[in-house]
Amino acid sequence: MATTSFTKKSLGFDVEPAVTPPPASAETSFLKKPKLGGKQRKKDIPEGLWTKCPKCETMVFDKELDENLKVCPKCSHHFPISARERIHSLVETCSFEEMDAEMTSVDVLQFTGVASYKDKLDAYQKTTGSKDAVITGIGKIGDFRVGLGVMDFAFLGGSMGSVVGEKLTRLIEGSTDRGLPVIIISTSGGARMYEGMFSLMQMAKTCAALAYHAKAKLPYVSILTHPTTAGVMASYASVGDLILAEPAAMIGFAGPRVIKDTTQAELPPGFQTAEFLLDHGLIDSIVPRKEMKDRLIYYLDFLTEGKRQVAPPAK
Ligand SMILES: [Zn+2]
Repeated sequence: MATTSFTKKSLGFDVEPAVTPPPASAETSFLKKPKLGGKQRKKDIPEGLWTKCPKCETMVFDKELDENLKVCPKCSHHFPISARERIHSLVETCSFEEMDAEMTSVDVLQFTGVASYKDKLDAYQKTTGSKDAVITGIGKIGDFRVGLGVMDFAFLGGSMGSVVGEKLTRLIEGSTDRGLPVIIISTSGGARMYEGMFSLMQMAKTCAALAYHAKAKLPYVSILTHPTTAGVMASYASVGDLILAEPAAMIGFAGPRVIKDTTQAELPPGFQTAEFLLDHGLIDSIVPRKEMKDRLIYYLDFLTEGKRQVAPPAK
């Protein structure tokens, strides 16, 4: 069952991205991959103690990895991190007020593949403890109150369905009303195929809300983490006033194989990595996870300075 792919030990990304349906010929290998990976890992690693870094192959003590915000202490490889852990690493203690925590998707299309959409939702809600693939709320980062949305790849590949779109839209609109900056941390395989067109509509909806937010002269910081692709990258993730990324994050629209087949051209080395996109001007800065909070405070200070200047001087 696919849910076993998302145990704490399975930190790889060879899991179901839930973007667009794979071609029929690829279906079997697509579905089997997480199972095989899971079994292999179980043999190699004692459960619950150590994690093998996929980049430098060092065995890292789990506690050390947690304390280091899921970054390999030897080679700085950034492991996936859950949305809640990420929020915890950024906001001031007890300052985060979650919004719309109970919002869940409805199986409008009555989608049934290998498992029904409803069964999938139930399974991922159990394994992640969240109702969908994004957590939103208002919190304090340093002295700045911000609207914060954080996606979770562990929930159906961080796919964007109507709940992700609606929660982010409410976050953005709520932040506009309150005069707050918005920060969205993305990780996603793209639009959620189980919701068809309803997923795609979220692209326009979130961007429209961001346009009103921008009109109110409020800053929006988009943070891209591994991987940010497809419909999410093609909408709110790529329209930040400031676009940051974690090191080595895979960022793109279609996968490299599709692009190579379509263009019939060799892709340059490092294609679709954060570093490549920084060189080509899409990303403003690459920020290691452990520096993210300090850098956000610095940027928020810079981006909101104009507002603070017009406020009456403190006595
Ligand atoms: Zn490493």
